Amino acid sequence: MTNTPGTEEVVRVRGLRKSYAGRTVVDGLDLDVDAGEVVGLIGANGAGKTTTVECLQGLCHPDSGVISVLGCDPAHDVARLRTMVGSQLQDSGLPDRLRVGEALALFATGRARDGDDLLAQFGLTERRRSAFASLSGGERQRLFLVLALLNRPRLVILDELTQGLDPAARRDVWAAVAQLRDSGTTVLLVTHELDEAEVLCSRVVAMRAGRVLDQGTPRELMARHAPSTTISFGATLRDLDSLVAALRGLPGVVEVGVAAGRVVVRGDRVSIPYVGAELVRRGEVPPDLDLELPGLTGALLSLLEPPAATAPSGAASSAAPTTLTQAGAVR
Ligand code: ATP
Repeated sequence: MTNTPGTEEVVRVRGLRKSYAGRTVVDGLDLDVDAGEVVGLIGANGAGKTTTVECLQGLCHPDSGVISVLGCDPAHDVARLRTMVGSQLQDSGLPDRLRVGEALALFATGRARDGDDLLAQFGLTERRRSAFASLSGGERQRLFLVLALLNRPRLVILDELTQGLDPAARRDVWAAVAQLRDSGTTVLLVTHELDEAEVLCSRVVAMRAGRVLDQGTPRELMARHAPSTTISFGATLRDLDSLVAALRGLPGVVEVGVAAGRVVVRGDRVSIPYVGAELVRRGEVPPDLDLELPGLTGALLSLLEPPAATAPSGAASSAAPTTLTQAGAVR
């Protein structure tokens, strides 16, 4: 279950296509996951994320394309795949009266790890005798993580793990996934929560209308799609006019203005050290300096919500609405 990143190909998908009633929902998708990676498959509602992971698990048959998961073709090796892939699927559920300990016994195979160790790892030891219905949302999701990990999977698939959780429960579940990441577990995480992907994923694959739009580490995507920064500080420094003129001439600076008692400097990331150096050179370091850098949400909103006129044809034109705002990804 624990791997060294980049040493083994776990998932390889080429040209995956799937239509429902003549409507293309996955449109020539390529996807790679290497051992030890936590890959986030992100996109708004209806982007085709769940359909893709269903195809990876043999739960749904693609119209065309090549899929290899741990060397298996999910369409033909589904039984073998089940022994190697642990999953928490969207809308997972268990019988209300089933106790946590009973769920462990029910799901354990001959390969199973010690369930009590896993319960302890995910803070559920006290809930061993509790019925599923009595668990909080966060506890349920942590139980699904425990069940997904129970049989020593080589790949873990998590689909909308934190949907509907309150902020505290979400934080606990994030911590649980971070434990998996730090232990080198290979995870494919399906989410439309961009902040979740930014925190948890080593690589992010952005989908819209069944296609991959871009992929990379969260840092690469942020640099590529949200290169702008805003630096601001109180307009109380000496020689303000000369300072503003000097800032305008610095590399990376696009615009400098004074508004509401603050100097506002807009530019790209390169501008940050130059602005800092200029302030230090003048011997005036403002005590109230703010720096705004867009996160993954700011970066990918522009990627996933293009003007309607530039949306791709085919799947995009026929797919369900896919804005992130509609997806609830913008808070
Ligand atoms: P969400 O974030 O809402 O789960 P998603 O990116 O996972 O969205 P999918 O669930 O893969 O998207 O759905 C892609 C499109 O395919 C949607 O328009 C959905 O309505 C449609 N779809 C999915 N499963 C089926 C099905 N069994 N029959 C018909 N249409 C389906």
